[in-house]
Amino acid sequence: MFGKGYLAITFDQPVAKERYQGIVPLEGRNLGEAAQSYFAQSEQIPSLVRLAAEKRGGYWFAGGLLLQHLPEGEEGRDRLHTRLDHPDWPHVAILGGSVKAEELTDPELPLDDLIWRLFHDEEEVRTLPATALTRGCRCDPVYVRSVIARFPEDERAAMVGDDGMIRVDCAFCSSSFAIEPGQLA
Ligand SMILES: [Zn+2]
Repeated sequence: MFGKGYLAITFDQPVAKERYQGIVPLEGRNLGEAAQSYFAQSEQIPSLVRLAAEKRGGYWFAGGLLLQHLPEGEEGRDRLHTRLDHPDWPHVAILGGSVKAEELTDPELPLDDLIWRLFHDEEEVRTLPATALTRGCRCDPVYVRSVIARFPEDERAAMVGDDGMIRVDCAFCSSSFAIEPGQLA
């Protein structure tokens, strides 16, 4: 899949109700390296990304690690992204980078255990309660119809496909919505 292309990363932050997208060239040997170069270019803070997907017992499992140098309270100090040296980072990045694909995709391996395996020699490791991930999208057929209904009639007519329907695809989850033009009026 790698060649001439772009990587679009969407950040959807329900708390801030903000969604923004970053687009960078698709660089590196794999998706993890491409994501890492996104962080290097856009946020300019040291980041490491490891991604893996593996088939286990007929099911695909995917997992990832995002390791990032966070500011330690920037008040009265240099802003992190303006600093050229990050003395603690190389060591932590080596530990994080030693994670194996089979560890990232093992559904039986609790995340706390994985963190322990990687960073148990460190002076201090703190974990926060996990957030459960769910699959889903906020696209809404009613909203999609209302957007299409606002187009002038001649433009809507131009959108009608061979099957007599207007089709709208969600770019985030690939859902396809079929709208009957006669029902929009
Ligand atoms: Zn969607």
